[in-house]
Amino acid sequence: MSTFDTLGLDAPLIQAIQDLGFTKPSEVQQKAIPILLGEETDLVALAQTGTGKTAAFGFPLIQKIDPTRKHTQGLILSPTRELCLQITNEIKLYAKYIPGLHTVAIYGGASITEQASQIKRGAQIVVATPGRMKDMINRGLINITQIDYCILDEADEMLNMGFYEDIQDILSNTPKEKRTWLFSATMPKEVSVIAKKFMNQPVEITVGSKNSGASTIVHEYYVAGSRDRYQALKRLADAHPEIFSVVFCRTKRDCQKVAENLIEDGYNAAALHGDLSQNQRDLVMSSFRKKQIQMLVATDVAARGIDVDDITHVINYQLPDEIETYTHRSGRTGRAGKEGVSMVIVTRSELRKISHIEKIIQQKFTLKNIPTGMEICEIQLFALANKIKNTEINHDVDEYLPKINEVLDGLTKEELIKKIVSVEFGRFYNYYNKTRDLNASEPSDRGDRAERSEGYSSNADSVRYFINVGSRDGFNWGTLKDFIRDTVGLGKDDVYKVDVKDSFSFFNSDTTAKDIILETFHEFKVDGRFINVEVSTEGPGNFKGKPKGKRDFDRPGFKKSKPSFDKGGYQGKGGFDKKKKFEFDPAKKSKRRQGFG
Ligand code: ADP
Ligand code: MG
Repeated sequence: MSTFDTLGLDAPLIQAIQDLGFTKPSEVQQKAIPILLGEETDLVALAQTGTGKTAAFGFPLIQKIDPTRKHTQGLILSPTRELCLQITNEIKLYAKYIPGLHTVAIYGGASITEQASQIKRGAQIVVATPGRMKDMINRGLINITQIDYCILDEADEMLNMGFYEDIQDILSNTPKEKRTWLFSATMPKEVSVIAKKFMNQPVEITVGSKNSGASTIVHEYYVAGSRDRYQALKRLADAHPEIFSVVFCRTKRDCQKVAENLIEDGYNAAALHGDLSQNQRDLVMSSFRKKQIQMLVATDVAARGIDVDDITHVINYQLPDEIETYTHRSGRTGRAGKEGVSMVIVTRSELRKISHIEKIIQQKFTLKNIPTGMEICEIQLFALANKIKNTEINHDVDEYLPKINEVLDGLTKEELIKKIVSVEFGRFYNYYNKTRDLNASEPSDRGDRAERSEGYSSNADSVRYFINVGSRDGFNWGTLKDFIRDTVGLGKDDVYKVDVKDSFSFFNSDTTAKDIILETFHEFKVDGRFINVEVSTEGPGNFKGKPKGKRDFDRPGFKKSKPSFDKGGYQGKGGFDKKKKFEFDPAKKSKRRQGFG
């Protein structure tokens, strides 16, 4: 078994490593440190998140730097402010027994003059985000023309975030003879391009297989109806009373919504996404680190900076658009050799994505059942019993004991236990008692939503709409559903409870899709005819008569006139020529979907 002593590290580093409590180098450290200490070479190192890459480049870098000289000798580029600060802190800890070595963090959103003056005081190691770095170079606030080492950390993320040109510009300000060390969790094409273009015969090391996930992570998937996602999420959380998790959503909006719902439903949750100010994000992250937040609901971009070790679960509320992103998500758990679970909530139509991901991560998923209400009750009951057993007695209650005894006089031990447990347990039991099974089995898009909703009011998670086309326009429930779904760009199960009337219809979607649906059908025309969608004021499925309010079809000229697209109605994917029939610009649509998705 390899130890840090055998890697060639000097005493001050070994001392700091002991202080940190690291007993054994991780695999990437074992592989990278001797190479970097031994020879002057470029290096490409691929290893999952949480495998200790910071120390893998940090230790050798610190050892190679001359602390008696003040100029900047090592530059570490990292994708986000969060990571930048984390790396800086780590490096400072590693270098604590090396007097005179200074590390400075350079990132956006903070005073550039302050950062410039720190640099001026002397910083042998600079850790920077590419954007701010470029800024400082352009303003002549930093000199990197004499660096010996440049480290591209989380290179895949930096490229993902569009920093290619910034990196190129920054590197053009560095000496040709410097060494470049590239660290990345995955090796997409863009990273190999960087390696080819800016590096000189790099030694390549890989930990695990390329792009694969950490082996300490178990991958599970749960199949639910798309409108049951939120309920499924709650059950997954409730079935793991000690959960400490990141919940990934695809969009800022979903993220915000899911977090709000969770908070409303009594969970310690918070949202983390790009619409929050830096200050708000810092606050959220600090509460999360302190475990005051059990469920952090995040977008992929916002979560890039998350480096918290004890995350027990990653929950993919929705799968990412880019399958590769899954590796990054799941890598937030199972860090530092700990075990973690990555859960995915999928609809039946997304199932093929699971096998796609399995190929990429080279690990198998396990299909799991969404726990039933009673299973959750049982889990919670035992969690409670254990909690009672393990609770330290607070002796301040001693003086009240006689009076408490009086109150509880006459109860047997058994009754007492039942009552104590019921106080807490009642909440779960009342909620889950008589709830249905959420596991999606056979396709059934027409189930009765109202009956199906659990506690969480049906109005809050599902929206009923009115649309001014109906059977007279050639639609039946199936074709109308396809029409709405394809026009908005929604998933297979996202439109449901379609009820086609003569000249108008109703349908439901999850509340999360409300904005995009209304936005898409805003001033939306087919063959010059306005297709109008509004939120229905009628209860779900209760509509009996004509809807209130003025509709397009009430207007003169619209009444009963047959729109030209009713010839045969909507033909489904095959016979449907979007370009010809629709007056919307596909570019506009994709932009809109970007904003949403
Ligand atoms: P990566 O950059 O690969 O995502 P980090 O460098 O952030 O991983 O390390 C993840 C966590 O593991 C950090 O908390 C770090 O302090 C810890 N760590 C790193 N190396 C070791 C080690 N050899 N033994 C124990 N913990 C370690
Ligand atoms: Mg890292």
